[in-house]
Parts: sequence; C-alpha cells; structure tokens
Amino acid sequence: MPVLELKDVKKYYKMPGGGQYEALRGVSAKFDAGEMVAIVGESGSGKSTLMNTIGGLDSDFEGAILYEGKNLRDFSQKEMVNYHKKSIGFIFQNFNLIPHLDLIDNVSIAMTLSNAEVKVRRQRAMELLEQVGLKEHMYKKPDQLSGGQKQRVAIARALANDPDVIIADEPTGALDAETTDVILNMIRDIAASGKLVLMVTHSDKVASHCSRVLRIDRGQIVSDQEQKPLDHHPQARTEVKIQQMSWFKAVALAFKNMKAKMSRNVLVATGMGIGIMSVILMLSLGKGVTSYVSGQMTTYSNPLVAEIQKTSSQKMRQQGMQAQQTGNSAALAKQQQKNMASLSGTSSASAFSKKDLKKLQKIAHVKKLQKGYSAISLGSNQLKLGKKTASMIYLKTVNDGIAKSEIKKGRLPKAGKNEVMIDSGSADNLSKKILGKKVKASLQIGTKTVTKTVKVVGVYEASGSGQVSTLLLPYSDLAKIFKDNGLTLKPNVVYLTATDKQYTSSIKQAAKDKGFAGSMQEQMTEMFDSILNVLTYVLTAIAAVSLLVSAIMILVVLNISVVERTQEIGVMKALGARRKDIRRIFSSEAFLLGLASGIIGVALTWLLSLGINHVTQSAFKATVVSLTPQYALTGLVISIVISMIAGILPANHASKLDPVEALRKE
Ligand code: ADP
Ligand code: MG
Repeated sequence: MPVLELKDVKKYYKMPGGGQYEALRGVSAKFDAGEMVAIVGESGSGKSTLMNTIGGLDSDFEGAILYEGKNLRDFSQKEMVNYHKKSIGFIFQNFNLIPHLDLIDNVSIAMTLSNAEVKVRRQRAMELLEQVGLKEHMYKKPDQLSGGQKQRVAIARALANDPDVIIADEPTGALDAETTDVILNMIRDIAASGKLVLMVTHSDKVASHCSRVLRIDRGQIVSDQEQKPLDHHPQARTEVKIQQMSWFKAVALAFKNMKAKMSRNVLVATGMGIGIMSVILMLSLGKGVTSYVSGQMTTYSNPLVAEIQKTSSQKMRQQGMQAQQTGNSAALAKQQQKNMASLSGTSSASAFSKKDLKKLQKIAHVKKLQKGYSAISLGSNQLKLGKKTASMIYLKTVNDGIAKSEIKKGRLPKAGKNEVMIDSGSADNLSKKILGKKVKASLQIGTKTVTKTVKVVGVYEASGSGQVSTLLLPYSDLAKIFKDNGLTLKPNVVYLTATDKQYTSSIKQAAKDKGFAGSMQEQMTEMFDSILNVLTYVLTAIAAVSLLVSAIMILVVLNISVVERTQEIGVMKALGARRKDIRRIFSSEAFLLGLASGIIGVALTWLLSLGINHVTQSAFKATVVSLTPQYALTGLVISIVISMIAGILPANHASKLDPVEALRKE
C-alpha cells in the first residue's frame, strides 16, 4: 500500500470579487516510503497548495487524499491532530523557527505539544541537533544563526516526532548554492532512511538529485518521471508517545513567550498593578480609618453596664430631613433647635420621663438603673486653676459605666462635697499635681453661666487611644446646681447595670426595641462607619475605572502579541497544536500577566501603606492603612480574573487563525 495516494484532488479559491479560482485541477498520484519526490513547476502553479492539502493544513478540497489507505476527510479531529504530530513533518522555505525560543525548544516544540516530559524532550532534541551538526549551538536563538543553520534546525524539528512523510516547500529557496547542497544531502538522507519526502523546488539541479520528479502546471500534473532510486539504509524508528498538551506545559510555554517581551510585559503589569493597588489601597484605607475612628470613640468599659439614650441622633436627623423635604421652614428651624438642644443636653426631647425609666427598669436582667446627664459644650464649660484654663467639652455625671481600671489617679467624686473627676489630658494641662486642688468651674446651666469652686479628686483615662476633655460630677450635685438656678435636672442618659455581663448586649437590644438608643459614642461610631463605607465604595468605584483601563490595555497588548506571532501560531498548528492548545497558551499568558500585575499591585500597596502609616503614626499616632491578607488576596484574584477575561478575545482569535494564511504571512 502506498503511504500517500491522491485521487483527483481539486482545490478552489474564492476570489475577492466573487467567483472562484481553480488552483488544483484533479491531481492524482501515489507515493511510497523511501521516495524522494521533487515537485517542480512555475510560480503560482499550485505546488504550495498541494503541499498544504496533503499536510492537512487545508481541508477544503475535493477528491480524496489517502494516508495509509485512510481518507483524510474521514479523520476525526483527534486523528487529524495525530496526523500532524506524528505522520507529517514540515520544512518551510523561510524556516519559520520561533524566534524567542532557543534551538532545543524549537526542535522539541512538537514534543511539547505532545506533552513529552522535559527530560525526554531535551534528550531527543539534543540528539537531533547533533545529527544536523548544531550541537554546540543548542542554546542559541534562531536569529544568531545563518540561513543554512536555520534550515538544519527546521529539519531537526520536522524529524522530532519521527514522522512518515516530510513535506518540504522550497527548503533551499532562500539558501546559496553551497548550503543548498548540504541541506539537500540531509533531506536525501531522510528519504534514504525510509521516509517519504515531498520537496517543492524551482531548481532542475535540485530535482535531478531526487528519485522522482513531478511537474505541475496550472494545477495539473504534466509529467511524472522516475529517476535513479536512492541507496536505502533503513533506520530504526523512534518510539514517540503522543498525548495532549497539559495546562501546566501551556503555562510553561507561555512563560517562555513572555520572557521574550519582558520589558513590555513588565510595563503592562506595572500599569495594571497600579490599578489593583488603587483598589486595595482604598479598601485598606477604609478599614484602617474605620477601626481608628471606632478606637477613638470608646465608651466606658465596664462590661456590666449599658448606656442608653432617649432618642438616637439618627432619628433626629431623619426628622430634620423630613422637615427639609417637605420644605416646611418653621419645622426645619424647630428641628435644628432641637438638635442643638439635644447636643447641649437641654432638650426636653432627649430627657427621660418617669414612664421611660419604669419601662427600662422592667427589662429582664437589669439589676440597677442609674440616672445620668451628659452635655456637650463648645467652649462654654471651663475649668480654671491659677492662670491656666481647660475647656471641657463633655459635662457628665458620675456613673457605673466607668470601670475601676479607667481611674488613673485618685477616686470617684462623692456626692454633696463639690468633688469632681476630670480626664487625664485636661488634668495635665492644668497641673502636674492636680489631685486635691480646688479649681474654678464655669458651667453653662440653661441660659446662665454658673461659677463654682470644686475639688479635683480623680483623674481618669478612658480606654481607646484618644479622648475628649470631660468633667464628671455626681448626679445629685448637678441636680442641686440646676435647682439653685431655678431649673430641674432631667436625666438624658440612663445606665443599666446587668445582673451578669452576658446580658449587657441583650439589655441594649431590648432598650432599642422599646424605642431607645445606645450611647452617643455608639451612635457616632455607627454613623461614622456608614459614612466611611459610602466613601470607601465611591473611592473603590473610581479605582475600578482604572482597572477597566488596565483590562483594555491587556486586551490590546495580547492582541498585538497575536498579530506579531501569527506565523508562530501557524507553525504550531502545522506541528499539531489544537485550537485548544493555542487558546491555552494565550490564556496562560493572560493569567501570568494578571498574576504579575496582582503581585506588583499588592507589593506597591504594602510599600505605600508602610509610608502612609509611618507618616500618620508620627502625626496622629494612628495606623490608617490596614492591608489585610484578605485584601491582598482579593487584589490578586481580581487582577487574574480581569486579565483572563481580557485575554479571552485575543486567545480565541489566535486559536481560530487559519494555518495556511498564518504561514503565508511574512
Ligand atoms: P506555488 O506554490 O506553486 O507558487 P500556490 O499554490 O501558492 O502556488 O498558488 C497557486 C494559485 O492559487 C496561485 O495562482 C495563487 O495566486 C492562488 N492562491 C493561493 N492562495 C490563495 C488564496 N488564499 N486565495 C486566492 N488564491 C490563492
Ligand atoms: Mg509556493
């Protein structure tokens, strides 16, 4: 049985203006193993078309091509891939070596596509390179070789999987006379070893060295001449295992491809990395600032005590907004007054009634209810010692919420003795030795400013990193001051002590369910959290736009890469790469680009966070960027996903390239 048999093969090309051109007009021939057939004919006579159809690169033909008796047309996709990998070896006029791979990798690329192990691959590639006399050049890149040397590499590559048929399309067309002889002898040796060689040539001299000459004119065989047969010296066949290329090998190959365009890829990855950085930085900044702010807003730390307020500031704001929306200016003015009043502690809306207190007292597990009062003033409450003044922002009553550990010096003030406790910051401002000193307090009570001499018996420091200046005095003392000035003190804070600390949060919840609110600090923290969350999302959205830009950048770069490597893709397909393999290689490049971008992004964020935190640490003793492993991982994943999505189009485009077209590209 002949190795190859052509039966009335016809090939039509569609013309751009409609109609078709018949490039092959019924070619029939039989070829046997060990033949060296010269295909001769004028330019445009259909030689390359015939070779591509025989080689399985172009399946759009009429008639039949039988390989070992089996019609190419009946081949399954897998059989076709195996035909490329194992049955046919291509040698091209312009060598078509892959420029960024060294000679070993160029020779072994077909084996890589067949998933051969690195060791096996290298071993075989070295043997073949030795056979073509290029062993000492094996680590060179193709552009470091002469034309003849390049063609020798291409011959070694064609032999890698030990095929039955070698198709050489003008292998000596680009070589001088001397190198032509060398290459010709090599190709003759291949045929002599028992393979079928089909070699296109222009030169009659080259043809005279072949065992058979086939002349083609305008798509038809015009003569078929047997010449002197070759001296055969059959060689042992190499056992080649053909498998499908694994993902891992695709990634490894992609990595080599990317190394070739290192500086471009580094630039792109850095650009994308900056996009990733902006996203992670925003997230980390949001988290860092939130935890800083909630750290600043610590309440008293006695775990048994729940601080309850009558109305939440949120509710008040909502009422204010309603007034604003309805355009009722009188209601708005009233609401604003109320807001001010509630802040300064004089609002009736924020005062607890007797009924309220009863309701709270009834909450399960409440052991004790303590009335309290808390007001904020901006500048009107002051303490004076000698010439020094401290402005007290908070005026508060002594309460069970204060843990013992928070009293830094002295003790809690006792009722009826004009004793007070102040925060450590204000204490330091007034005097280093404040304990036991009498200070002059000016307090805003209703509309009046009341002056009173009080004794500082305690200094406290709330847990948390910062605190607001606070003056604490017993509730009954404050009530007396109010009474002396013709006013009645109503509690605007209630401290509920739980029977056990496990109930504290359920008490808080029960109070909220009854329409009361948590402590001012809790409310402010919640409010701040929600504002920061919104801000974080807005900033992250802006950062996301930069990611979109990066994605487009990656898409463009990968597309350029596909165009640049069209020829390479053609070669890979001729060597038996499936569409899937090509898609995988380009997807792997997108993956690697995404991975690199992600790593760069995380590294940049980390460096920036070190810098920013150093500055804020020395300025406000605060860490504002909190880069958690989750955020770093999020950044990496986002980067890889975006990059791979951007890679889908170019990878698909590459996988769909027509090998014949691709190989024709110069
Ligand atoms: P040869 O290799 O003998 O020089 P080819 O096989 O390359 O010739 O081309 C044979 C004929 O088919 C030529 O006339 C050429 O113009 C035409 N041809 C080749 N490829 C195409 C194509 N893709 N579309 C249209 N015509 C083509
Ligand atoms: Mg040609």
